Amino acid sequence: MVGEKDKCRYNQDQAWADSINFVQIVLALKHLKAVNKYFWKYRYRFIAGIFFVILSNYFQVLAPEITGYVVNKLQEMLPGAKPVAHSVREHDGLVNWFIGWVNTMNFGKLVVVCSVTILLLALARGVLMFFMRQTIIVMSRHIEYDQKNEVYSHYQKLDAGFYKTHNTGDLMNRMTEDVSRVRMYTGPAIMYLINLVSLISLCVVNMFRKDVHLSLIVLAPLPILAVTIYIVNTVIHKKSEKVQGLLSDLTTNAQESYSGIRVIKSFVQEKAMLGFFSANSEAYRKNAVSLAKVEAVYFPSMTLMIGLSTLITVLVGGQMALRDPERNIGLIVEFVMYINMLTFPVSAIGSVASMMQRAAASQKRLNEFLQTEPVIQDAPAATATPLKGDIVFNNVSFTYTNTGIKALRHFNLEVKEGQKVLLLGKTGSGKTTVAQLLLRFYDADEGSITVGGVPLQKMKVQQLREQISYVPQDVFLFSDTIGNNIGFGLQEAASQELLEQSARYASVDNEIKRLEKGYETMVGERGVTLSGGQKQRVSIARALVKDSPVLVFDDCLSAVDARTENEIINNLYRFLHQKTAILITHRIFTALNFDQVIVLEEGTIIEKGTHEELLLLNGYYAELYRLQVSNERGEA
Ligand code: ADP
Repeated sequence: MVGEKDKCRYNQDQAWADSINFVQIVLALKHLKAVNKYFWKYRYRFIAGIFFVILSNYFQVLAPEITGYVVNKLQEMLPGAKPVAHSVREHDGLVNWFIGWVNTMNFGKLVVVCSVTILLLALARGVLMFFMRQTIIVMSRHIEYDQKNEVYSHYQKLDAGFYKTHNTGDLMNRMTEDVSRVRMYTGPAIMYLINLVSLISLCVVNMFRKDVHLSLIVLAPLPILAVTIYIVNTVIHKKSEKVQGLLSDLTTNAQESYSGIRVIKSFVQEKAMLGFFSANSEAYRKNAVSLAKVEAVYFPSMTLMIGLSTLITVLVGGQMALRDPERNIGLIVEFVMYINMLTFPVSAIGSVASMMQRAAASQKRLNEFLQTEPVIQDAPAATATPLKGDIVFNNVSFTYTNTGIKALRHFNLEVKEGQKVLLLGKTGSGKTTVAQLLLRFYDADEGSITVGGVPLQKMKVQQLREQISYVPQDVFLFSDTIGNNIGFGLQEAASQELLEQSARYASVDNEIKRLEKGYETMVGERGVTLSGGQKQRVSIARALVKDSPVLVFDDCLSAVDARTENEIINNLYRFLHQKTAILITHRIFTALNFDQVIVLEEGTIIEKGTHEELLLLNGYYAELYRLQVSNERGEA
């Protein structure tokens, strides 16, 4: 058995192995190609950003040159000193021009002019850095916005099957976590990358131009610094993710203990819960301490490495100067400044690499998701057909692929235009599946479904759904006003009159009016809590507001009391006059005179006929009817 310690050791080894697998990292970056279209979209902003970064860095590397020049001037003024040899080629063109200008000044004036110039350069850099953020970071926010919209609109396209196989947390993560991680690439990572590439190149070119030998010696520790920082960064990131995960476990654990306190106390499980919490808490403590240890080593060792480079510069440069008194001392000062300037970009290489790696992993997940095509799509020749005529299910079979449950077997049903049909059966008998197939949430595996002789596949999906009013079994109201919830399915804003009329049909109008703000009352998490029955009736009103030729009610009166149920059925009787309606239920409604009653069991029809015919048949329906009638008498 692998012990805890071994497991820990394994994880650490794995982290190190992962972090140095550069090939994998480079390969993973190909996933980020998908965001190039956005860079192209915002290309002017992006190009301006690159320009600001490079210009700001160019101004930055001018300062060491000017300082070096001033130190050399000072060296020349020392007693017995010889003039320091300046080679025109050594300096940048702009600096040469500047030196030509200040060289004739006396030393005091020269120092003042040089200091003011360095200050002005720093100010100019500040302004340029402001513009750099204004362009690149703002671009990344635009990209984030576009990407969120792209992901959201793709979610809207995907069908019911997709939502059954993905959990909400995972779906939410793509919209929030993954998109933000990609933004870290399109914003900060790209900005730092351009920054570090340009600054390192400018510094290194300047250094090599001045002294190749000294450059090679002082630059040697920097790659080691970059790789170390990258590795440590990865370890820190993995550890902090683990700590975050443990913290969320701990919070969930505590939260459940509070909300389930009555269960815990009645089952006398306080001790066990405490033990469980302590174990979680201990795991969190251990990991947090280990993270703190790595962090404690990280910052001092970074400072040490940087200090080492400065030390080498001073040491080697100093020795050179001792050996050759005519040597340019300003150069050593200049090099120390370059090394200090390089510290930030070199240490940023590690964090930029890990930011890009994380963004690539997130973009990979997003790409996989964006490439998922909805199963239900319009056929190329789909037409906008009005939903008229008989609805026919012909020998339909359907299996849910995710569970392998065969929900319908050779199901046949003919609903004539204008008929009212009651679909009855125990839970799990396949009633909802009939509704879902009619709305084309799924396509049947076998057989066909036609309306007025036209197969559903030949119609436009959107048009089909627009013409069917569906009241689902599980009521869902948006965090909005009651009025907006009822008018949800309409293209234009519904008139108050229409909303109230639909609510009256659903027997909920009076109750809404009794609320302080009436139809303007907010529901959902931020608003009032409606009872289960009220919610069901608001959702019925939402279906009735749409003037559709076909209506499907899926067990939508289960939380309504018997008196209101009768009232709604009576109202529906008037409303449904010319319309085709399928009522799904596990109870019997005698108030509405159904043209057909269908009894389903395990996906097949076991009884079919009118109310009277089924009573005569003396089967499931008759038994259920007798039971319900005797119950109602008992209650009365
Ligand atoms: P009813 O509406 O009569 O209660 P359903 O049509 O909802 O029955 O379900 C029929 C069978 O299909 C049940 O066994 C149920 O567990 C299964 N089922 C329903 N919906 C899904 C789904 N989305 N994925 C997998 N299996 C499902």
